[in-house]
Amino acid sequence: MTQFSALVTATYRRRIRVQLSDGASADARIKGRKLRPVCGDTVTVEPLPDDDELLITAIGKRRNELTRTDTRGNREVLATNLDTLAVVAAAIPKPDWFVVDRYLCAAELMGIGGIVVYNKCDLETAPETKQELENYESLGYSAVQTSAKTGVNIESLRQCIGRRLTIIVGQSGVGKSTLINALADDELLKTAAVSRKHREGRHTTVTSSMIRLDGGGTVIDSPGVRDYAPMLESFQDVQQGFREIRDVAEQCRFADCRHLQEPGCAVKAAVDAGSLRARRYESFRRAVFLSEKIVRGRYR
Ligand code: GDP
Ligand code: ZN
Repeated sequence: MTQFSALVTATYRRRIRVQLSDGASADARIKGRKLRPVCGDTVTVEPLPDDDELLITAIGKRRNELTRTDTRGNREVLATNLDTLAVVAAAIPKPDWFVVDRYLCAAELMGIGGIVVYNKCDLETAPETKQELENYESLGYSAVQTSAKTGVNIESLRQCIGRRLTIIVGQSGVGKSTLINALADDELLKTAAVSRKHREGRHTTVTSSMIRLDGGGTVIDSPGVRDYAPMLESFQDVQQGFREIRDVAEQCRFADCRHLQEPGCAVKAAVDAGSLRARRYESFRRAVFLSEKIVRGRYR
């Protein structure tokens, strides 16, 4: 039996698009009910007799996984083998920085870099937004203010992405599709993105696709995930997800300090002193409670 490996470039329910080593694309079906290939996966495929479609028989080892969970602890993999995560916020809908933090938390857990994109910078920017973006930069994340509408800083974003495989995430309506269209600058893609939108309207199934950019990068266009929550299986996961808290935690009096109300907590002291942003600390607290819910839901 001929077998070869392919890259998953789009998923739509149980229909999969793959790219072969020669660059050609093909449609594929999945063998059995258990395999769940997602964008970014390397898969083993076999040709089917009298059929244009290929059969996916195995998923290769994953370097990392972007996961989400509900409060019962059900885990879903959104994409794999990523190099960077770009989380988009905008003036409209009102930025939800807690969502941004949850995605950055996921990036930390995957050990990949995070980019904060503030889109629609052609609209008025709130002073609080400027402070948040400055804070992200001071933490070492890239922060880019773009306008997909006017083209401002689209080139900077392209450079930030570089040649990396980047997933683009964020609330619905912030301009992810418009940004990807601006980055890709491809007429064919524009219609593809539009048809994706229509499909999303009718089905809730996760659909995502990989788009090559001029300049060698690749982005994964993920569907709107409402109330995204990363899979936080322990307090350690949460602490790992907030880099400035992880760093300061080393100075807490107790090694198992949870930074909630323990005496001698260096994290709370840093918040009080203003060297650690209170809103990020609040995000951390929420993530701690979320992780407790996930663990409870799972072992109930
Ligand atoms: P998505 O849900 O994140 O994919 O968002 P869309 O790309 O569908 O954009 C949502 C709306 O915001 C659309 O009406 C876009 O035209 C608009 N939009 C996108 N980017 C910009 C921008 O940079 N400036 C302004 N003013 N509007 C934008
Ligand atoms: Zn502490």
